Amino acid sequence: MSVVDDIKDRLDIVEVISNYITLQKAGRNFKALCPFHSEKTPSFTVNPERQGWHCFGACSTGGDAFSFVMRMERMDFGDTLKQLAQKTGITLQRKHDEDNKDDLYTINMEASKFYQDVLASSEGQRAATYLAERGVNQDTIEAFQLGLSPKIGNQLYDHLRKSGIDTERSIEAGVLHKGNDGTVRDFFWGRLMFPIHDYRSRITGFGARSLDNSDPKYLNTSATNIFDKRAILYGLHMASDTIRKHDAAVVVEGYMDVITAHQHGYTNVVASMGTALTDRQVGQLKRAASNFILALDPDAAGQEATLRSLESSWRVFERRQVGKTRRSTATLYQRESIKLRIATLPTGKDPDTLIRHDSEEWERLTRDAVPFMEFLIPAAASRYNIETSDGKAQAAEAILPLITATSNAFDQENYFNKLAEVLGVSTEALEASIGKPSSYRTNIQTRNKSQRLSLSPLANDRENFLEDYVLALLITRPELRDSAQALTHQQFRKTENKEVFTSWQCCPTIDELEAQLDESLHDHLSYLQQIDIVSSGLSSLEAALNQSLRRLEQRHLQELQVGLLDSVDSMTPPPKELEEAIINVNTRLKELFSKRL
Ligand code: ZN
Repeated sequence: MSVVDDIKDRLDIVEVISNYITLQKAGRNFKALCPFHSEKTPSFTVNPERQGWHCFGACSTGGDAFSFVMRMERMDFGDTLKQLAQKTGITLQRKHDEDNKDDLYTINMEASKFYQDVLASSEGQRAATYLAERGVNQDTIEAFQLGLSPKIGNQLYDHLRKSGIDTERSIEAGVLHKGNDGTVRDFFWGRLMFPIHDYRSRITGFGARSLDNSDPKYLNTSATNIFDKRAILYGLHMASDTIRKHDAAVVVEGYMDVITAHQHGYTNVVASMGTALTDRQVGQLKRAASNFILALDPDAAGQEATLRSLESSWRVFERRQVGKTRRSTATLYQRESIKLRIATLPTGKDPDTLIRHDSEEWERLTRDAVPFMEFLIPAAASRYNIETSDGKAQAAEAILPLITATSNAFDQENYFNKLAEVLGVSTEALEASIGKPSSYRTNIQTRNKSQRLSLSPLANDRENFLEDYVLALLITRPELRDSAQALTHQQFRKTENKEVFTSWQCCPTIDELEAQLDESLHDHLSYLQQIDIVSSGLSSLEAALNQSLRRLEQRHLQELQVGLLDSVDSMTPPPKELEEAIINVNTRLKELFSKRL
């Protein structure tokens, strides 16, 4: 039994959830007002038999005790595991790596304190003047723990040595540097120091700005075991409360943009620390809110690199497939909607200057930000050679998946028409390009009967094995990736599987998947990789996957159905939304049953 299963066994979901909200008994289940969205009639239910929860309202999602605590506390899987392990008295075996990491955080904190002292000393006079000229006040300097690295000597090195901190470890943390000749020196010299925290307020590294126009203007800690700038949002630890409260975040580019914004009361601002958002940053944001505004300067906004990276990181948010059979359940799958809007700044002005000189303009820009698709579709004309049919096809291929992932049906229609207009094709022609059958489909149709019977993993009684099996197929057979586009994390019951699935969506290889997953899930990943897949031909694998996916969706819908019907009993009259949801679930279930072999 895995440690996660062990912990789940000792937890009672009713007790866990009761720690956060008041549950009312309703038949065999419990219900409550959903803690994740605001509502007047309860649509949040807890099922003690299945040890699961579900919100049948706006969230339209559910899970187990782990996923509840993760959402409630806004913690990642690893931290949730630690908290629940402690609660249930289970000792987690700490991997050597993790002890190692704690060290590095401590060294960074010590270095940060040292830099703060230097800034406050007479040596910091010039830097303090610079900050004052840029309008940064003392409270903000303290809140963001700004500091200064000394211009001469190896003062940090001396300080750390005197404090008994290991030199090799300090080099690993990136605050000291060992040259080819073996001499150890401070890594940062004469720079304004911005400690970079993770969402748990631990210092993972530093950004450093030159004060004498020396190059580079900004220097970061090199990649370390705890610092990967693609995975961090600057200021998130300060902004997360506001982001959560208003369900909205503004993403800017630089440290100073965040600092000035916060000082002026715009406390939901974070920085991507580079030009474009990465998949991993998007993943963190998604955990905190569902509305995002990206403030781009006009140069970046027009760049191909920005657009491309936005397209790909955005795909992680809502990876779905459109298809005629999907229409009926569209609302169920697309409820968890994420909205990205783009605010294009005036030429030559970054958020820092704009907020300091014209905060009303900043407010107007963020308020009037345009939906990402309205920004992306017109850009297609200049990005692709849309005079040719190849160019049109490329543009359609890049943009259609994003349109079909749009949660609002009216918006979808509207974007679809706009794209057709930009490409100069009829909507019929564009629609036909979506319905392209997968090349695997013919293989399934030609498979023979004996093959079909021999590969069923579904004889296995253990219900939960089904989802393990699906994941095993997906992670070990990359050629199946395209066949699972309609799969959503909601269809998994086990949080471990939800986590692996979500990471798999943006990781093309097992190595990348492993790198992205929390360490505590590595054992689960190895277990999945070891699952015996039996058949090997592409067509039979494809068939096995499809059959399993159907079962998984069916199981998910049946659970939804039971829960929805339960909620109807307790409400008179049932809200229209609920009624529609029930009809949609039933229709889709009928479709699935009629497809059964
Ligand atoms: Zn809800």
